[in-house]
Amino acid sequence: MNTPRKHYVVTIARRDPASEAKSRVEPEFWKKKKLEEMNRTEWELLCDGCGKCCLNKLEIDGAIHYTCVRCRFLDTQSCLCRIYENRFEKVPDCRSVDLKAVREKPRFLPKTCAYWLLDNGYELPAWHPLVSGDKESVHKAMKSVRGRLIISESEVTHYEDYIVDWKDI
Ligand code: SF4
Ligand code: SF4
Repeated sequence: MNTPRKHYVVTIARRDPASEAKSRVEPEFWKKKKLEEMNRTEWELLCDGCGKCCLNKLEIDGAIHYTCVRCRFLDTQSCLCRIYENRFEKVPDCRSVDLKAVREKPRFLPKTCAYWLLDNGYELPAWHPLVSGDKESVHKAMKSVRGRLIISESEVTHYEDYIVDWKDI
């Protein structure tokens, strides 16, 4: 058995989409462009803000297992990173979501992740904020970490005790 490996991944749309430069965003770009064709603003808007990628994961025998243990800097109400600008300094294993991360095998982004969905030929779900027009829709649809039984990593020593089998990871 491989040594369990903990890793994080950063969500990249930690800003309010309303503050983004809409002029640089092609209407319904997610239906027209491949991931590699999106500009930075479009790429960031694609994140649904679920926060699930900031949960700790274990890789055991080549399979990824999610835990209900969150990064200590993840705000479970907003589902946003509390140290976004300095995340890589404070959390060395926090990762960017880039093409390499999206295509990594075994898959460690949740199966609802917008990047993974589009890259694998799926459409964005109705609850995605880009589709609904409501940034709260991901939470209302219960696809984010908000309202889940989640514990901070600062309270945990054995991650194996917290493996979960949620259907949307
Ligand atoms: S530092 Fe922020 S972005 Fe990185 S894993 Fe923690 S909460 Fe997520
Ligand atoms: S799992 Fe994907 S969609 Fe959800 S917060 Fe992370 S990068 Fe964004």
